[in-house]
Amino acid sequence: MPYPTSPFNENFNYKLINSLLVELDYDNKISNEELMFTLKWLCSSPKMTTIRVNTLKNNVQNVLHILRQFLKETKMYIHHCLSNVVVIENTALCEELEKHEKEVIVDTECASAVLRGAHIYAPGVLGMVAGCQLNEDVSIYADIAKKCKKGFQKVYDSTSKIHIGNGKIKMQRHHLFSTKNIQYNGVAVEVSKTISGCPTINENILPAGDILLQNIPSILCVKTLNPKRGSVVIDLCASPGNKTTYIAELMENKGVIIAIDKTPKKVSQLQERCENFGANVKVYQADSTTIIIESQTSSRTVEDGPPFLPESFDNVLLDAPCSVLGKRPQLANRMSENEIKSYVPLQRKLFETATKLLKPGGTMVYSTCTITLAENEGIIAWALRTFNFIELLKPPLNLGEPGWIGTSLTEEQRNFVQRFGPNSKIDSVGFFFAYFRKKS
Ligand code: SAM
Repeated sequence: MPYPTSPFNENFNYKLINSLLVELDYDNKISNEELMFTLKWLCSSPKMTTIRVNTLKNNVQNVLHILRQFLKETKMYIHHCLSNVVVIENTALCEELEKHEKEVIVDTECASAVLRGAHIYAPGVLGMVAGCQLNEDVSIYADIAKKCKKGFQKVYDSTSKIHIGNGKIKMQRHHLFSTKNIQYNGVAVEVSKTISGCPTINENILPAGDILLQNIPSILCVKTLNPKRGSVVIDLCASPGNKTTYIAELMENKGVIIAIDKTPKKVSQLQERCENFGANVKVYQADSTTIIIESQTSSRTVEDGPPFLPESFDNVLLDAPCSVLGKRPQLANRMSENEIKSYVPLQRKLFETATKLLKPGGTMVYSTCTITLAENEGIIAWALRTFNFIELLKPPLNLGEPGWIGTSLTEEQRNFVQRFGPNSKIDSVGFFFAYFRKKS
């Protein structure tokens, strides 16, 4: 299942992550074999790519038609449960690629995106041999050891570089590593082939905001929340807006959508994405742990922006900041134990905010793109113990696998939460979500 002979696995800190997946204070541990199976799965790429069509701007048949013109040999179809999603199947793994004389070195984040079908954007390039000409063929290598210096100009002599694909130069060294303070963000190398067999998809083949490369679990958690026309909805951790824009689509832009993010730069990205997608969203920069005004006498309305009165929203999405261990493929992971463990207290604070903001009878979704027990089932078990006014619901579409054992969740509750891993019905990223209602 993972790239069998590649050195990816050696650069993945199994030991640390293995010990952190099952926190020490949980009694029942999932088996070591199951953990290793999951960790190895994380080192491989999903076998399919999925594109969400923004039906506010285009339609799925038209998008399918255009994609078929660009990716002639590729098998693609509309997802059997999600009628706004095009599934593109990857071709077989290809570990023996032609090697070109000239090379480009990219960081592991960029390499992971390339293996999922992205071109190489300027910020991801670490090195490019001197003398590369526009449109020249190059081999693309990932710097797994994270030791290549930005601007490197020779052949990178390292045992931990991996040949991940080939492509054509679209930006030269003087653009990429300019000493002037200009930051280039465009495509630096157009990828033609990768070892993952994932076709490279240029989102620019359609106008900005018509389609989005988005993983099925991420689409499913918004579909489960199912915001309706005319509802009042808040997305507490919204940037870059992949889920917010889908909320707007499901609501057909009728109602109120508030999207919050803490980081100013991310708020700009969120604003831009909502504009491109034609999504009618009010975007605010705020810390979502402190956006509630307790004063009963306040006459504020949701439209005034934060802070908000308790019980103001019909639906709340909490796509929480997390350790991102569900991302695939993970080429290298050197996160510290403290960093991985730092998310639970923040997730709890955000969860508490979410429950307070929800109207009685309203629904919320908690989601993460990580696989640890503590950030997923651990949070759900804590929330059900702490807030007796919320109930866990069974999502209408069940494509995930049951939650892991090891917390106080009952078997029924483990079957209600949606964990996406190597045993799910779809081969996607590692993801988790749970669906709740506030009792009336
Ligand atoms: N929902 C987004 C999407 O699907 O495009 C992805 C959200 S990402 C998992 C988590 C986001 O939470 C980050 O953009 C981060 O800046 C933001 N964040 C972290 N702490 C926050 C806080 N206290 N309040 C609001 N946003 C926060």
